[in-house]
Amino acid sequence: MLECEGAEVVFTSGGTESDDFAVKGVAFANGLRGHIVASSFEHSAVLKSLDFLVNLGMTVTYVDPDADGIVSPDAMAHAMQDDTVLCICMLANNEIGTVQPVRDIVARAHTRNIPVFCDAVQGYGQIPVSVADLGVDLLSLSGHKLGAPRGIGILYVKRETNIVPLIDGGGQETGYRSGTENTAGIIGLAQAMSDSAEHRERNAARLRSLSEELFDRLCVLPHCVINGTREHGKRLPGNVNVSFPGLDAESVVLGLDRRGIAASAGAACMGGKIVRSRSLLAIGADDARASSSLRLTLGDESTAEQIRYIADSVAHVTADLYAMR
Ligand code: PLP
Repeated sequence: MLECEGAEVVFTSGGTESDDFAVKGVAFANGLRGHIVASSFEHSAVLKSLDFLVNLGMTVTYVDPDADGIVSPDAMAHAMQDDTVLCICMLANNEIGTVQPVRDIVARAHTRNIPVFCDAVQGYGQIPVSVADLGVDLLSLSGHKLGAPRGIGILYVKRETNIVPLIDGGGQETGYRSGTENTAGIIGLAQAMSDSAEHRERNAARLRSLSEELFDRLCVLPHCVINGTREHGKRLPGNVNVSFPGLDAESVVLGLDRRGIAASAGAACMGGKIVRSRSLLAIGADDARASSSLRLTLGDESTAEQIRYIADSVAHVTADLYAMR
């Protein structure tokens, strides 16, 4: 399904472990020396692993996406150095769902013999993911995003990639990850991947039309700002992300929760302190927009009726909160 060889698939405990393994495994293989280029709105599993490496003396250049949420291959190429050992760009951003031009980034990196790691955790199941087509050297997936059990993921490692294992022992997984395999999880993941491959195109078209309708209904609400491009092919079909500047995202999420809607604040709230969304800051959003972003992820069971209910609920909750300011 990924268009690779079986021996290139390493089963892990999930997306976080796959990301951590890709980043640190390549860094250790290079003796913790050199430089890494990464988009600045990677998942924290990547960013925290990079922090760890910076503390050990490696250098990282972070490349911001543009205002639409797309990373420029030219900007990534510009950041590459003679000592760059890895280039990192996710397939689709986990907050704003924007799809990145990974194939073009790979083309730029490979002209300089730099391997590319792509976190495809958010993209798989919604858009085509073929490592042969993308040309990447490393690619991560997570089972629970596809309906597989929690605790299973994949790191694709292209043959002859310069990477060392982080878990040593009995040499399972062609030596890349020791430890007795999670057989039930692996079988569940295989089933979930084949189910999602079978239904992907039909589901994506349905999700696209539902999310278009939700965007249309939300963007006419007072103060609403859409985050990331809406352009067809450049956004995951099920991702809707908008901001209501002046409100704090947690209050909107709580208001929606009372109406039975599970939304997510792009900006995490930690210990009562509002933390602005890193992805929104990366695309140049100001503080008010970055602390008020709302993510509504549509799934296979979402219906047109729910979309109308969600739009009405967001309208009521945000109007009440603006009136209380
Ligand atoms: N990478 C991305 C882009 C994600 O969205 C997530 C989870 O939301 C992860 C990595 C981590 O995956 P997991 O929850 O399987 O550890």
